Amino acid sequence: MSEEAIEFLKKLIRIRSINPPGNEGEVAQAIAELLVKHGLEAKCLELEEGRANLVGWLRGNSTSNRKRTLAVSGHMDVVPAGQIPWRHDPFSADEVDGKIYGRGTVDMKGGLAALVFAMLELKEEGAVLNGDVQLLATAGEEAGAVGSKRLYEAGYMDEVDALLVAEPTGGKIMVANKGVLWVEITTYGKTAHGSLPHAGINAIAHMSSILHALFHEFEMSYEPDPLLGGPTFSVDVIEGGVKTNVVPDRCRIEIDFRTVPSQKHEHILEELQRLIDGVRRSTPDLRAEMRVFNDLPSVRTDPEDPFVRIVQEAVQEVYGEERPLSGVTAYTDCSRLVPPGSKQQPFVIICGADTALAHQPDEYIEVETFLQSIQLYKTIMKKYLS
Ligand SMILES: [Zn+2]
Repeated sequence: MSEEAIEFLKKLIRIRSINPPGNEGEVAQAIAELLVKHGLEAKCLELEEGRANLVGWLRGNSTSNRKRTLAVSGHMDVVPAGQIPWRHDPFSADEVDGKIYGRGTVDMKGGLAALVFAMLELKEEGAVLNGDVQLLATAGEEAGAVGSKRLYEAGYMDEVDALLVAEPTGGKIMVANKGVLWVEITTYGKTAHGSLPHAGINAIAHMSSILHALFHEFEMSYEPDPLLGGPTFSVDVIEGGVKTNVVPDRCRIEIDFRTVPSQKHEHILEELQRLIDGVRRSTPDLRAEMRVFNDLPSVRTDPEDPFVRIVQEAVQEVYGEERPLSGVTAYTDCSRLVPPGSKQQPFVIICGADTALAHQPDEYIEVETFLQSIQLYKTIMKKYLS
């Protein structure tokens, strides 16, 4: 079945499910057809024109009454190919020297196709499973994880006992991911001729005061997480002004906060507001507005959870060595599927694909890594549903 798996991965790479806008519908359709062809169940759930989530099932076949459901998940969208030219076309899935090149080979059609083929191979082998494997192939992960939000709200996590996510981790066992909070701050001033700056209010000068306070005084309160460490923030966009001789009446920045489980995002926003109010005390005509445009919590699994131990055993069997537990600095669909306040089922994020190649030009996955990931997922599925 390895040949079929490799061909299927290439087929997925050739579908341009670039986000924005997403176009995941065609990927969902391809997976659905394959699952059904092999006697599994599948359902495409349309989000909007051309975009869909896909839910698939490998049903348990044992008569035991301690049935469990293992959800396995991967996203179908990919980030754009970028400005830097590739040596290999990002959407032709070239295979050279045991490597398959293409956008999404690592992040994460490789992991997703490996989950699908783990299910197909277990079906083919007639493996005895005490419960179902439920595939959640999501749309829109790369922009606010909108597809997984929809699946969670529609109840697809309600009957789930554990969650396996196939994001690239270089074979590391990740049991936590950071949260994300994207904040835009805009300052508003008053325009004037550049030769008469005192007649205007300079929005860039005001933003500069806010930035100064942000870089020199801003502190977040938190408890360090053993796997994720502390939070970070980075000001990644600044924009303002129209012309050299016009006093700018508007300036905006975008801040990327990455948070840990002990933090509440409302508190960060309150602290930010306090900082702006502090700047206003010395700059009375400062006018600033804050807007949140991405907000996903940090989530973690108890490292002692039996599901984590099962994954550790599977890793030992497939990779022939123990691997330590760690956490992901990025956010994943886990923030949507097991959010704080929900059932918070144990989750593990793992795939052999190399994290460092994600979102890069000439992204590739080694065929061997891909096939080994299928083995890993099969082993986890069998052990958890034994
Ligand atoms: Zn990803």
